Amino acid sequence: MTCELSPAPGGPAAPRTAALRPRLPSPVAELRDERFARRGLRLLLKRDDLIHPELPGNKWRKLEPNLRAADPARHTLLTFGGAYSNHLRATAAAGRLLGFATVGVVRGEELADRPLNASLSRCAADGMRLRFVDRATYRRKNEPEVLAELTRTAGAGGECFVVPEGGSNAAAVHGCTELGRELRGVADVVGVACGTGGTLAGLAAGLGQGQRTIGFPVLKGGFLGAEIERLQREAFGERRGAWELDERFHCGGYARTGPELDAFAEDFAARHGLAPERVYVAKMLYGLTTLALEGAFAPGTTVAAVVTG
Ligand SMILES: *Cc1c(COP(=O)(O)O)cnc(C)c1O
Repeated sequence: MTCELSPAPGGPAAPRTAALRPRLPSPVAELRDERFARRGLRLLLKRDDLIHPELPGNKWRKLEPNLRAADPARHTLLTFGGAYSNHLRATAAAGRLLGFATVGVVRGEELADRPLNASLSRCAADGMRLRFVDRATYRRKNEPEVLAELTRTAGAGGECFVVPEGGSNAAAVHGCTELGRELRGVADVVGVACGTGGTLAGLAAGLGQGQRTIGFPVLKGGFLGAEIERLQREAFGERRGAWELDERFHCGGYARTGPELDAFAEDFAARHGLAPERVYVAKMLYGLTTLALEGAFAPGTTVAAVVTG
């Protein structure tokens, strides 16, 4: 089995993904939130979560260019994720909807002996073959020997089309520039939650003059700025757009929470009738609201919060 690391540019003229009928551009809704209004700020929600029921938010924007470059008659999609990965779920769903065989490499060898959680059960029900690997191997998944072994043993007949963890590669970053273009002239500041940073890398590049992006990493570590620069250089050959990160709102790390974040999310749901997704979106909204309360935005500023899922 051979392995294609980066998708060929272009793709068929009428992309088969159009058959999935994404809701694009995604809707923008204005929220009346006193914490913003009192300071002369407008708050908009960019509802990327409504793009597609099974490939919501940035998962659509990142996967679509990859799905367009791959061919279901030829390729098995192989990708990576943790036991609760939204990206694995979206890839599995795309496989079912578009006729791709899919293989998911899952972090954690011990999971192989346990009943599948709800997220991995959905992947399996969508036909994704799951391959559990130990954490050391998972960390080395991008090394050529490890990747070669994973694709060789993927067990599928055809070639492997490898999509990196979180779906973030140059094609995905280009896909996310469209999110920025949809927000041109709509907001001054755009807030987005970051996992791998691929969404921010594209979003910031797609925005217009005078607009800036604030990213809120949900993982602890402080490594993300360098990774976003790397993704932008891979996609565009240079750093693009005005963006910065605020690392204060990860609440201890991925999927971690705390009483303050829980209280914020419950209060937000009560105020607006919209319960924010907890792993990413709630942290971003908490960050933007804190910045508003701190006086970080000048009166008259329009703030758009990207609801990535
Ligand atoms: C995957 C995901 C993200 C992270 O996107 P990156 O491009 O990896 O930074 C953010 N929000 C939601 C809801 C997600 O599922």
